[in-house]
Amino acid sequence: RGEARFPYLETLNPPQRQAVEALDGPVLVLAGAGTGKTRVLTTRLAHLLNLGKARPWEVLAVTFTNKAAREMHDRVGQLIGQAVEGVWLGTFHAIGVRILRRHAELVGRTSGFTILDDDDQQRLIKQLLEAENIDVKRWPPRAFASVIDGWKNKGLTPAKVQEGDSGFADGKAKALYKLYQDRLQTLNACDFGDLLLLTTELFLNHPDVLADYHRRFRYILVDEYQDTNVAQYLWLRLLAQGARNICCVGDDDQSIYGWRGAEVGNILKFESDFPGAKVIRLEQNYRSTGPILEAASGLIANNEDRLGKTLWTEVPDGEKLVVQGVWDGEEEARQIGEEIEALQRRGESLSQVAILVRATFQMRYFEDRFIEIGLPYQIVGGVRFYQRQEIKDATCYLQIIAQPDNDLAFERIVNTPKRGLGDATVQKLHQIARTARQSLYRAAEAIVETEELGPKARGSLKRLMEDFARWRLQAPDLSPAELAEVVLEESGYTEMWQRDKSPQAPAKLDNLKEMVFAMEDHETLASYLEHIALVQANDASDSTEKVSVMTLHAAKGLEFDSVFLPGWEEEVFPNRRALEETGTRGLEEERRLAYVGITRARRRAYVFHAANRRVFNEWRSGIPSRFIDELPEQAVEVRTETGLYGGRAAAGGFGEHDQRPGQGSFVYDAPWLAATQRLKQRGYRAGGYARPKPIEGRAERVETVEAPRRFETGERVFHQKFGYGAVVAIDGNHLQIEFEKAGRKKVVAAFVDPA
Ligand code: ATP
Ligand code: MG
Repeated sequence: RGEARFPYLETLNPPQRQAVEALDGPVLVLAGAGTGKTRVLTTRLAHLLNLGKARPWEVLAVTFTNKAAREMHDRVGQLIGQAVEGVWLGTFHAIGVRILRRHAELVGRTSGFTILDDDDQQRLIKQLLEAENIDVKRWPPRAFASVIDGWKNKGLTPAKVQEGDSGFADGKAKALYKLYQDRLQTLNACDFGDLLLLTTELFLNHPDVLADYHRRFRYILVDEYQDTNVAQYLWLRLLAQGARNICCVGDDDQSIYGWRGAEVGNILKFESDFPGAKVIRLEQNYRSTGPILEAASGLIANNEDRLGKTLWTEVPDGEKLVVQGVWDGEEEARQIGEEIEALQRRGESLSQVAILVRATFQMRYFEDRFIEIGLPYQIVGGVRFYQRQEIKDATCYLQIIAQPDNDLAFERIVNTPKRGLGDATVQKLHQIARTARQSLYRAAEAIVETEELGPKARGSLKRLMEDFARWRLQAPDLSPAELAEVVLEESGYTEMWQRDKSPQAPAKLDNLKEMVFAMEDHETLASYLEHIALVQANDASDSTEKVSVMTLHAAKGLEFDSVFLPGWEEEVFPNRRALEETGTRGLEEERRLAYVGITRARRRAYVFHAANRRVFNEWRSGIPSRFIDELPEQAVEVRTETGLYGGRAAAGGFGEHDQRPGQGSFVYDAPWLAATQRLKQRGYRAGGYARPKPIEGRAERVETVEAPRRFETGERVFHQKFGYGAVVAIDGNHLQIEFEKAGRKKVVAAFVDPA
């Protein structure tokens, strides 16, 4: 019997097997998490090759990440014991660049064209905007980069963009886009978006080339189809019109890249794009236990905009999903650390444990805690907190204050933010430093007393050196966190990111705030800098088993025995932006993200929410996420060890919190008082730390919160650095002040006193 030749088919259930064996014609596998979609795709690839239906180079297989491509490659190798080398297996971008190199001349490039990274791209855009006399302060290059990116995600060349489609540079965006594309061509370069856009253009303008690929790609396979954007969709559809043997797998409930232009509607269009398509549904989940599946299904049922599907498992019993309330982010990390150590003692492998966060700022707590307790971890698909550009920049300022002779740090920030101290100045400093055998810092101190630099550069460097001198004087009297706040504010570093209109800027500002917050744990600047050095040393350690820390977005397609989901609080998850949006689109995408999170777990899932979270420099009561309320009760175990905060039982229902910071009489319990005391000791002048509603009978004393100093517009004030001025506008804990000498500036209210 033929069966023996295909042992891999026997492990499949009937609909999976059908999806693998329906080799010819269009097939869509539409199914929930953990039902074996990726496994079907992999087996199908192996089967195609094994049957000799196609030779390796006649198959195109598209995955969402490079890692997924590698996994598929290895798995096919295992299944059919033959090399899969030669299969066109990779991400959209990887395949796109491969095609483009072969026909570069047809799109005005040569095959050795360069691919610009984000930095190159921005530099190019900046040059271009400046050449066009566009004020790059008002219209930042980053913002234009994201406009262009948006167009390319939609498959729009300059000719296809509608006039006035973007407000950038007062309606000049379309013309600038054209200039930008021309410039890339002259430079024999492509940006990331071009890898698809130009390939699509190539196919459209050269039917002979397209026909060639139609003959070549006899079979096309696509994973995570729900997250394809318009450009990818157009590209695929063009290619698939040839042999029409296309198999896409996806799950509308896991569409989480809408913010990047993905269109879940592509799934719905599949049947009309490919008439006669077979649609196969898989319902058996092989990944998770009953309670985990039940929790995930119950949650996602709250979305209205979905196709709807059933999931079941043969492993109905298992541990319930744990929901645990904790005091704050630090306690959250501590508890999770302990839980992981307990798992480890029970013989669980660290490589089977993941912490999935909504936003990168949350990672910091875990990194700090895990270093403290020596738990090996890795940040997957991202940069470690202390390695981030903005954190490194800020740290360089502090390093120079502690240790002026740190040349690397000095060089990194001397012109960040831009203050007219370009390469020429730095080179001069290097020369002087070399000749006099001194550090760049000392060379800078010396050079500003001479005429060697032009007046502009000299003035600017002089101001910087004065700043450093002042910060060094202030350092002993300020806590490290306060010092950091002063430095970030007065150096213009924070302002640089505030002015930056790119999509990355808000996250960078959050990370900076998070850094200042983290510094509150340190009594001295030296201790903080030592901590950072330790964190970086930990990077190098290579133990084989590590806990994975990553964003929910990066976790797509993966699975772990135990999954920790911290920060399930309103405004963290669902995040603030989604809540501010009108309509439910953003919220539903957040809910799908929660569904992706829970369904990564095989056996154990833990949801955490903190009662206090610092958001945008102020403490707020963390209101448990609405997603916690949406979890079906029977699948959940609520843990309230402290009996004070969090948890249905303790708080008398979720969401019952008093949120009027700085007003009236509040009742405190002991841990809250202790935490507040700690904060006050660390120099938090403003009151207004909200806390969860206390439990009857647990209150230890009643105190009136000292309201934060409130300023009024027009009020005359004094600032340590800028002197006297009048308040022009108030924006949270920042004030805009018209200073008598220094002009208009935005400063932190805590450093302003009434005059
Ligand atoms: P996601 O939506 O999260 O990407 P998926 O549908 O792609 O999930 P897979 O990752 O392919 O699901 O499969 C989930 C798990 O179930 C994997 O460990 C896989 O090996 C296992 N699995 C899938 N099908 C079967 C089967 N027929 N028998 C045994 N195990 C299976
Ligand atoms: Mg998958």
